[in-house]
Amino acid sequence: MGACSRSHTGWPWSVGPLTRESLDERIQARFLKSAPTLAECPDDGVAEVAILGRSNAGKSSVLNQLTGNRHLARTSKTPGRTRLINFFDTDRGGRLVDLPGYGYARASHAERHVWQREVERYLEARDPLCALVLVTDCRHPFHAFDQHMLGWARAAALPALVLLNKADKLAHGARTKCLRDAERFLREQPHTQAILFSAATGDGRKFLIDWLSERLAAG
Ligand code: GDP
Repeated sequence: MGACSRSHTGWPWSVGPLTRESLDERIQARFLKSAPTLAECPDDGVAEVAILGRSNAGKSSVLNQLTGNRHLARTSKTPGRTRLINFFDTDRGGRLVDLPGYGYARASHAERHVWQREVERYLEARDPLCALVLVTDCRHPFHAFDQHMLGWARAAALPALVLLNKADKLAHGARTKCLRDAERFLREQPHTQAILFSAATGDGRKFLIDWLSERLAAG
């Protein structure tokens, strides 16, 4: 077993009071490297949390919100890097791993096939991988892509956090319903939790940072 156990059961995490300091808190992250295949990923066993999402769900905006570093998400969107596994060192000990090409609608079928195989090998066999963050658009979550990802998480016994992003676009009642529907949808999915999130306003950031910090410190 690598940096962290995949059979972790730690729900629920306490979020704690929102102080000025915690509201301002970010995760410091710095680009480490891009790997085109599983074989070229770092081999030092440092804990990893992968972040995934269909294009346009807001993954780059979530990374910006989380780190306060616009450059970081731009790094992953650089042409050439969208087909790579991108690693970012963090000040929490572990690494964030961005898989920008996964769910990327504009790739050709053949390209997608090759890329998908590498990413699936990464998700299945990568020992330091502790958890997944799945970014969805709360107005239409649980697309085939999202369900596919959650299937992988379940098969690999990986804890997952589903961000119901763009929650600022919903009225109060619709937000409550969205969360309730997601919780119902995830009832059979072990170690998986959904939260309302807004990369635009920062809603949910504190929870996400606590969740990630706990995972990233596991190494
Ligand atoms: P990515 O393709 O998943 O990396 O998505 P982006 O982060 O580039 O976001 C796609 C679009 O959604 C952009 O126009 C963002 O400004 C917008 N967006 C992302 N997150 C939010 C959010 O929480 N609220 C709102 N209102 N817009 C968002």
